[in-house]
Amino acid sequence: MSPLKDTYRHQGLRRGLVRELRQRGIHDERVLAALAAVPRHLFFEPAFEAHAYQDKAFPIGEGQTISQPYTVAYQTQLLGVQPTDRVLEVGTGSGYQCAVLLRLTPHLDSIEFNEILFARTRQRLALLGANGAGLHCGDGSVGLPERAPFDAILVTAGAPGLPPALLRQLRVGGRLVIPVGGNHTQRMVRVTREGPETFVREDFEEFRFVPLRGASGWQIK
Ligand code: SAM
Repeated sequence: MSPLKDTYRHQGLRRGLVRELRQRGIHDERVLAALAAVPRHLFFEPAFEAHAYQDKAFPIGEGQTISQPYTVAYQTQLLGVQPTDRVLEVGTGSGYQCAVLLRLTPHLDSIEFNEILFARTRQRLALLGANGAGLHCGDGSVGLPERAPFDAILVTAGAPGLPPALLRQLRVGGRLVIPVGGNHTQRMVRVTREGPETFVREDFEEFRFVPLRGASGWQIK
């Protein structure tokens, strides 16, 4: 079977996954529709396809993971993306979250630290026709100043604190969604820039993420 096939069986499995996410409390219909539309199995090596519609994170190589569907839905829901929003994703990884965000806005940039994952994912997104995002390779913990300001910034790796550059690159009214904490568990945090110097922080559930690297991340060799 072609690895790029999205069959009725895959679509059925996806509907089941979306039902599960709804039961776990995801209620934003646009987010649920985006997850129902993106064929997650196409972000897996064909040999591991059977894992694609379980609500679990999965290794994608280079010590990194494709996030659990619940986490993707949870972060996307907190981000509250509108169709005209300019969005930055930090941590492109497999490109799955990127494809989900592209269902919500065409104005998307995504940055990945790991050069091997970056090259692989750029190719995958092109093959899938999901190449509407500006893809960048580099340290997203300092944001993407040349494309700022953003209405929404989503960080998909766990940070030791709030990266100052990401706060500065938010437009007034913009939201930063980022897991913050130790290197084992992190709390999901949303910061809204309510005025030029006014940032409001809200804390949500705990999650487990791979570490954010780079200047405002964890210093790992
Ligand atoms: N969003 C991804 C997906 O849908 O597959 C999941 C990403 S994985 C949980 C986190 C990613 O963040 C990894 O690919 C990692 O290399 C990347 N990363 C870590 N630190 C980074 C940084 N400073 N800038 C950009 N990417 C970073």
